[in-house]
Amino acid sequence: MNRGSYLILNNERLADGVFEIVLEAPEIAARAVPGQFVNLYLPGGAMLLPRPLGIADVSPPRTVTLVYAVVGAGTERLSQLPAGRRICAMGPLGNGFLAKIRFTRLLLIGGGMGAAPLRFAARRFREPVHSELYIEAFLGFAAEPWGLASFGAACDHVHVASDTQGAAAFHGTVVDLLEKRGRFCSSPGAGGTLALACGPMPMLKAAAAWCEARGIPLRVSLEARMGCGYGACASCTCETTAAQRKKICTDGPCFDAEEILW
Ligand SMILES: Cc1cc2nc3c(=O)[nH]c(=O)nc-3n(C[C@H](O)[C@H](O)[C@H](O)COP(=O)(O)OP(=O)(O)OC[C@H]3O[C@@H](n4cnc5c(N)ncnc54)[C@H](O)[C@@H]3O)c2cc1C
Repeated sequence: MNRGSYLILNNERLADGVFEIVLEAPEIAARAVPGQFVNLYLPGGAMLLPRPLGIADVSPPRTVTLVYAVVGAGTERLSQLPAGRRICAMGPLGNGFLAKIRFTRLLLIGGGMGAAPLRFAARRFREPVHSELYIEAFLGFAAEPWGLASFGAACDHVHVASDTQGAAAFHGTVVDLLEKRGRFCSSPGAGGTLALACGPMPMLKAAAAWCEARGIPLRVSLEARMGCGYGACASCTCETTAAQRKKICTDGPCFDAEEILW
């Protein structure tokens, strides 16, 4: 992992309370894989703990894109930093989605800000080396959808749900949408479907049940309040089927859904 001071190339509003920041961070861009995150250290020193954000895109060899919701003091401050300023960041952190099986169909299930790291997965798996892969995304938002253009460019199909009536073609949760339009049926192993999911815990739990009922292997990206972000403080552990608690920052944030004690 690298820690450095990186130039902000852009920091703009995507939707109500949602921003996209682009950093010139070649050391991070060169090594990042989908599902990993970076820690941002906000200027001023008043906020000691870094803010972890999933990597939403990378344009090698130079830039890293993050998409964030303004939810508290740190992200509020971040949204005020203009292009041309520098920000301290560490990354790439965590394990990434790391698929251990062969698959020919990729199912992406994102809820809210969970769409951000899935965007990087969609783009990376759209590269020519994976030309045979069929990619379908199911994305759910609380209100207006955002960032759909990048999914449209990388996926064969994008389905969008919103909790707000009229904001998307489907009114309801992303798991309701999966029930209605997810026609995937596969057995684990070669040639099947792999699902990746990121979003709030209740959504992940419902997505895990949906995938389990259809025999679709699922990797989930978890969130927890973190201290250091690189395994030293052990403040972000979760219970799994393993004997010991696992650290979300270094053992994760991505896990096989079947490892998690929902
Ligand atoms: C691995 C990982 C990836 C993430 N990726 C994204 C992303 O791509 N986009 C996005 O919008 N958000 C993401 N989050 C959540 C994001 O880190 C928090 O929303 C952010 O830290 C809130 O900071 P704040 O100062 O605005 O809020 P405050 O609530 O004021 O934060 C106070 C403290 O709690 C921590 N904290 C608060 N909420 C969270 C949370 N949900 N997860 C972890 N720490 C939290 C903060 O880092 C800070 O130390 C991710 C979290 C993790 C753990």
